Amino acid sequence: MKHSLFTPLAALLLGGTALACTGFAGVHDHFLPLNGTFAIKNQIPLNSAGYGISHFGKGAYMITDGAYQTLILVSTDGVIVVDAPPTTGRNLQHAIANLTSIPVRYFIYSHSHADHAGAAYLFANQSQPAVTTIAHTNTAAQLATAKDPLRPTPQITFDKTYTLVAGNQTLRLSFPGIGHDLGNILIYAPRQKILMMVDQIYAGWVPFWNLAASLYIPGWIDAHDIILSYDFDIYLGGHMGGAGNRTDVETQKEYVTDLYNNCAEALLESAPGGNPRTDIAKISEKVLGDNPGNVWAQFAVYLDAVAEVCYEKTSEKWLGRLAAQDVFGFSHARTMVSSLRLDYDVLGPNGVRG
Ligand SMILES: [Zn+2]
Repeated sequence: MKHSLFTPLAALLLGGTALACTGFAGVHDHFLPLNGTFAIKNQIPLNSAGYGISHFGKGAYMITDGAYQTLILVSTDGVIVVDAPPTTGRNLQHAIANLTSIPVRYFIYSHSHADHAGAAYLFANQSQPAVTTIAHTNTAAQLATAKDPLRPTPQITFDKTYTLVAGNQTLRLSFPGIGHDLGNILIYAPRQKILMMVDQIYAGWVPFWNLAASLYIPGWIDAHDIILSYDFDIYLGGHMGGAGNRTDVETQKEYVTDLYNNCAEALLESAPGGNPRTDIAKISEKVLGDNPGNVWAQFAVYLDAVAEVCYEKTSEKWLGRLAAQDVFGFSHARTMVSSLRLDYDVLGPNGVRG
């Protein structure tokens, strides 16, 4: 795979700024600098122990290690903790102890994934004082299957919605359907107008690898509109060291819409006689000629060619606008091409034969 666009477009955007080498061999040998981008400005400072705290007011805080986020709500009836990433780990206990002497009484799983919940055992189902653990039914099933002592199964589960009222604080949990994970939920604090949905929106950045490594891309895409139907000022996506807002959700929706349209166009123009770079007949002839009978080789080259055209078109608008389009943009194009074919029935030249 070659990222032929990197050097000329990067030079265009950066006025010839030299790109730094990673020093590691492989596909990713050069990345654009983030200097001055929103992604950098939005990071809150970390203390010497490696964590930082944002105070949103009315007892709401975000604790971050710069890569992951935990939502804390201090109520008159105990502290509510949403997610416990292993990379923050015991710093969560230190940070909470520095904020309040009120004990943790509730632990909520945003979803099942270990990178956000691998330190859940520090809080979930603890007995002194008693901690009530809450998650979506599907998350509970995933955790039961995993049998991971670091991610205990919840005591309270729900299918559609659950409202936690703890003293003077309220959290509304709701399940929008399968998307990033089987049981990824919206977590809404109405008093503070904070909305959390993890691995969904990445303020200032393109999503993590392969559209956030989501299980069901149409559900993950639809969640953008569900999020925008809420009345919120602060958005927490569970990643990086800063909070987002409504504009970040709208920006990512625009990015994903562009990606969808560009990949659909790339698929449709890959018919014989279409774009010479992705013409399925030309690619088949060449690859099967060099590799007789290797149908997978022919298809792999074709799909990556389509994804690369989509990636380049998307980069024309988004490289330098959202951080790390050069890092994960191709993976997003590849994932979108696959979802368009399998979920949305945009099969291009492989559709119903006439
Ligand atoms: Zn996840």
